[in-house]
Amino acid sequence: MNGYLDESHFLMVEEGFTTRDLLENLLLDHSQASDREAFFVADLGDVVKNHLHFLEALPHVKPFYTVKCNSSKGLVRLLAELGAGFDCASKAEIALIQSIGVPPDKIIYTSPCKQISQVKYAASHGVQLMTFDNEVELGKVAKSHPHARMVLRIATDDSRSSARLSVKFGATLNSCRHLLETAKEMNVEIVGVSFHVGSGFVDPQIFAQSIANARLVFEMGMELGYKMHLLDIGGGFLGTEDTKETAAVINSALDLYFPEGCGVEIIAEPGRYYVASAFTLVVSVIAKREVPLDQPGSDEEEPSSKKSIRYHINDSVYRSFGCILFDNACPTPILHKKPCLDQPSYNSSLWGSSCDGQDCIAEGLELPELQVNDWLIFENMGAYTIAASSSFNGFQPPQINYAMSRVAWEAIQLLQRKLLQPEETRESREVSQTSGRTQEAKLNLEDKLAMAYWEL
Ligand code: PLP
Repeated sequence: MNGYLDESHFLMVEEGFTTRDLLENLLLDHSQASDREAFFVADLGDVVKNHLHFLEALPHVKPFYTVKCNSSKGLVRLLAELGAGFDCASKAEIALIQSIGVPPDKIIYTSPCKQISQVKYAASHGVQLMTFDNEVELGKVAKSHPHARMVLRIATDDSRSSARLSVKFGATLNSCRHLLETAKEMNVEIVGVSFHVGSGFVDPQIFAQSIANARLVFEMGMELGYKMHLLDIGGGFLGTEDTKETAAVINSALDLYFPEGCGVEIIAEPGRYYVASAFTLVVSVIAKREVPLDQPGSDEEEPSSKKSIRYHINDSVYRSFGCILFDNACPTPILHKKPCLDQPSYNSSLWGSSCDGQDCIAEGLELPELQVNDWLIFENMGAYTIAASSSFNGFQPPQINYAMSRVAWEAIQLLQRKLLQPEETRESREVSQTSGRTQEAKLNLEDKLAMAYWEL
């Protein structure tokens, strides 16, 4: 093992027991406690599975996980253990990643507009790879970070993406030559190009277009004498299913514009793809009240169906539900206590624990009547949730309970052993297959990896 993560950092889930069983056990413990605080269960095995899917879908792309998406310690330790790099957007994120022992060459500082003191911090902590998209940034870097290796971030046409980033960042293609020339005058090294297609993109072809544009900028850079060797295709990847189609588009664009052997390293900055599905949040109802349902009355309706209930829960948009404000998310609760079939349902809304009137978690839900202390479960709560958590109103973020199945833990070890085999050895084994025993050992390892992979 690489030493970033060990069994003291998470709860090992043995065969015959699932992380869902663990959640039920935790619910029992929390139900006995008087405070019934909200808590997370983070299934690290799910992250391992997402990582393996990523490597399989985009075999030529190295993931640099976007720390801003979810910077919880157990998670970044796992990703370091898996050999991922890190996309950091600030001094604090660099410090966090370096505090667990990640070397600086596994970090890219991706904010194109950095505070000078933070550029100096990167310089003094050995982080050389940084992005930029404007002339002023080049001036700051020339003065404060002479060993920086800069990556020019270009804008994408993310007008159809749900979370747009090119409205704020990215140089236009027209301005790239000027920026590259200015960098040359300032003696700043340019090593590559990056982009981000925005999150929630509609058409994967946006990757093909952006990769083609990046190729044009590579040509400009090489004409000016730069050794361009890094392409960063950013983030925005959704779940593993959606990513299959996207990966096909990316792989064929890479084959066309950056074919294998062209000497260009390809990285990506996935965030939500890795973590969204791994985190489950459990909250409890802390208060409720009935409000008049503003609905033109129809005499035939049952009186009960006209009741509307507001529930207050012990989390808020200023803590784990930041995804509502920052990511346009619409979290839907699962009731822990299953309702009876004949139980009437009511128009219901969920409100956060802060005093802010905007702290609304969900409206227009049809739910059976809940009671104070009832538990609600929210799945897919890993991305841009706790990351934006604040102590507004004096509340603290929910505790995170990390767990992983033994098979996932073993898959990490198998993956590491596989990656540890020198490339040459692996290739020569594949070609020559001289020794039966060697071949058998190799098959064993791969079979186990595949088994572990599919069993996850
Ligand atoms: N890279 C950069 C520069 C970003 O700003 C973001 C998100 O804001 C990401 C990567 C991650 O995006 P996602 O979580 O959609 O993959």
